[in-house]
Amino acid sequence: MLGVTSAAARAVGVKVVADHVAFVEVGIDGVVVRSGTEPFDAFSTMATSTLVGLLRRFIDGGSDAPLLGIGVGIPGNVDEQGDGVVDSTQLGWNQVPLGAILRRALDLPVVVDNNVNALSMAERLFGQGRNYRDFLVVTIGTGVGAGVVASGSVFRGHAGGAGDIGHIPVVDDGPVCQCGNRGCLEAFIGESALVATARERGVISARGTIDMLSRAAAAGDLAAQTIFGEAGHLLGRTLAGVINVLDPEIVILLGEGVVAWTHWSFGFEPALRAALVPGKRGIPIAVETWQDDSWAQGAAALVLATPFDADGVAGEQGRLVRERLFTHTRAGEAPPT
Ligand SMILES: [Zn+2]
Repeated sequence: MLGVTSAAARAVGVKVVADHVAFVEVGIDGVVVRSGTEPFDAFSTMATSTLVGLLRRFIDGGSDAPLLGIGVGIPGNVDEQGDGVVDSTQLGWNQVPLGAILRRALDLPVVVDNNVNALSMAERLFGQGRNYRDFLVVTIGTGVGAGVVASGSVFRGHAGGAGDIGHIPVVDDGPVCQCGNRGCLEAFIGESALVATARERGVISARGTIDMLSRAAAAGDLAAQTIFGEAGHLLGRTLAGVINVLDPEIVILLGEGVVAWTHWSFGFEPALRAALVPGKRGIPIAVETWQDDSWAQGAAALVLATPFDADGVAGEQGRLVRERLFTHTRAGEAPPT
């Protein structure tokens, strides 16, 4: 793709969460040219047809450059990128054939994956991950997740569920997690857990939010800083285990939660370094700045990654994207109407 100008073609990325969807249109260099957010109710029986309508509207408002395809990032499990059958407790979706529904309705290639996997793909293509073959992408925020990039490819596991570090059990009899089990990492350090702890300790009011907690920490409130520091400790210790197992070259930290990273890091750094085996103690942790449309941008990378998809991860959909790229980026070719 080298030498092709970024405006020659575009991809659309979509982030789907329980109460809203976010869209971006990107050039083939992954840079966002347009974005939008719409309210959405994933639990509605009309959820998928609503999504089709919202997507159609966003696509129609875009540039004339040919659209290579649509990438969708989901907080949950996706069987295969090119197939796109979704299971997500966060969305209340069980075996929803999202890929097939969108393909049929929009007549475009559609690639669907877990949102952290999508973000890992974006890191591999456009971010710091470009320089590494083996790395971990770890996200903190509403949920806690990881993408495992091994030998240059995102490792998806048997059914697309690899990297789910939020559900590493850390305490025998801990609080109930969204997954139904007790004592998962996410049940301690996910956004709602941090807010619950802060309310309990009177650091924020009974209706206080994560932003209020972050602001309190930034303003020097020791109790607020302690909550992030404790979360950092638990994350550091758990992540050490993951690093010891997978031996990545670097860890890239992302997600809404990184705004308060200064306070997380107090607990994180010592806990991580102490629990790493000696040979791995020096591993760099790169904390990236987070933008509102980073998730959707990651989803768009699912489409942009297909030309490099030597393993055929995106299957038939990847082939269709490549076909469109080839057809529409030949010199002098007019974009389709
Ligand atoms: Zn869990």
